[in-house]
Amino acid sequence: MIIGAMNSPKNDLVSELQLFGEMGFDFVEITVESPAATPEKIAANKKAILDTLHSYNFGVLSHYPWYFSVAHPYQTIQDAIIREFARAFDAAASLGAKYATIHTEFMPAGIQDRPVHRAKTIDSVKKLHKEAAERGLQLLIENYNASSFSIKEFKELFSDLDTGMTLDIGHASTSDGEGMSNYLAQFKKRVRHVHLHDNDKRQDQHLPLGAGKIDIAKAVAELKSFYDATITLEVHSSDREYLEASKDRLEILWYGKEHHERNKEYQMPKK
Ligand SMILES: [Zn+2]
Repeated sequence: MIIGAMNSPKNDLVSELQLFGEMGFDFVEITVESPAATPEKIAANKKAILDTLHSYNFGVLSHYPWYFSVAHPYQTIQDAIIREFARAFDAAASLGAKYATIHTEFMPAGIQDRPVHRAKTIDSVKKLHKEAAERGLQLLIENYNASSFSIKEFKELFSDLDTGMTLDIGHASTSDGEGMSNYLAQFKKRVRHVHLHDNDKRQDQHLPLGAGKIDIAKAVAELKSFYDATITLEVHSSDREYLEASKDRLEILWYGKEHHERNKEYQMPKK
């Protein structure tokens, strides 16, 4: 298991990478997102970004704005969003990313009939899967909640398209989130990447681990029983010390306290 962090798109990307590097993260999940991490800004700063990634020996995953629709009721707007996704895929591929995580629809579900919402989502995900593959990226679709796209609808999508998923444990744990165990009962073999953050089990709050009501120890034990790959801590507190504290907590839960302490000594050898 390796632990990553995601840049805040409001902050300069190089500064974010340096912060995560100093905190000892293993990889970064770069969200290609306005205002500070748009494809244009990434292209303009590509050398500095790549130099920083290499200096910390960071692996790279990629992520896209949650508000990019995949089931927009207006086809011309949906087509423009697909093109913007493709530009963002180019930017991520230029930084060496291998995975591209997108979300299911975030617009209120009542805007259009459910079969239309479902058909549009599946159509967009197929197009994005192809756009991503053409750039050497593997598309992963991330769960949000049942009104966005339900477990039943994911089953329909996966029967039509062989793609992987990013399991977001925080999203699955909200009041409309259908629960981590229910996702795993259906899609264990499709999970390629994980997002972890805490909340009050009602709203999607992206809290530090332990600050909400999710039983993080139980979730980690459940995950560890079948999974040993990337976990991004999507902790959105403005005070970034909570991100570092969440990393310590996850390492202790996964490896045990003793191993965690040894790891720290390895990173910072005593004189
Ligand atoms: Zn997420």
